[in-house]
Amino acid sequence: MNRLFKTLICNKQVSLTVAETTGLVQRARDIHGLDAAAAKTLGELLTCGAYMAGCLKSEKGAVSITIKAGENSGSASVSGDVNLHMRGYIDGSAGGKLAGGFMTVVKDDGFFRPFTGACELISDDVSHNLEHYFEISEQIPTKVRVGAKFEGEKCLAAGGVVMQLLPGHSEEAAAYIDAKAEEIGDIAEDILKLGGEGVLKRYFGKDTEGSHVYITRPEYKCNCSREKIAAILHTMGKEELKKIAEEQGEVSVHCHYCNTDYKFGAEDIEKLFK
Ligand SMILES: [Zn+2]
Repeated sequence: MNRLFKTLICNKQVSLTVAETTGLVQRARDIHGLDAAAAKTLGELLTCGAYMAGCLKSEKGAVSITIKAGENSGSASVSGDVNLHMRGYIDGSAGGKLAGGFMTVVKDDGFFRPFTGACELISDDVSHNLEHYFEISEQIPTKVRVGAKFEGEKCLAAGGVVMQLLPGHSEEAAAYIDAKAEEIGDIAEDILKLGGEGVLKRYFGKDTEGSHVYITRPEYKCNCSREKIAAILHTMGKEELKKIAEEQGEVSVHCHYCNTDYKFGAEDIEKLFK
């Protein structure tokens, strides 16, 4: 089940999103064959990415979160578009650890130039790092509680809660999101027991009375294609490609996001330049 529930609460001073991303996270685990620790980290990042993709406004909007490895951390990247088509990968060698690295967010709303923000990673916890990012880079007070729970290869539950203060908010609204964040314990466990809708009801039932809740459905979908890869290869020039094909038998391009190999033999290369 993949769903985002989005609404405004506290007299429209707080934007609230509850995400249930169990299916999305399971798909990511299966595509990459990850162990539970790496799958948990990637799953939490994908949930944050789905939240951010859900905030995009333009038809051409896209967002990416990239983790650059520090000394003891791995690298990872997730991205998504306005249709909530999400994809991502993680270098599993660091066991899903993040601390010590850097996080970069690129938000492209399809207008003018993309917004880029970055911050240092402060812990191994995806939620804390995202809160830190919003504080440092976008100066928006945000509470993030994302989680993913695995039993071996099976994702039992994944999802989270994101609360963001809107401009002109009162002190009460700020106190409200602090208190709610404190109240939420193991969010993956809550999702497992109650589902996304149940989490919305349990923590925000009274506060969402009368507000319209928008429901959208994120899914794992890579936007790569043989045509797109061919267009990129074309820019390298025929001679260069022929040289690689001669040396290696073919030109092979790997998509990290969906674990697909695209292979171009000598004949394919000839065709590219016809
Ligand atoms: Zn792909």
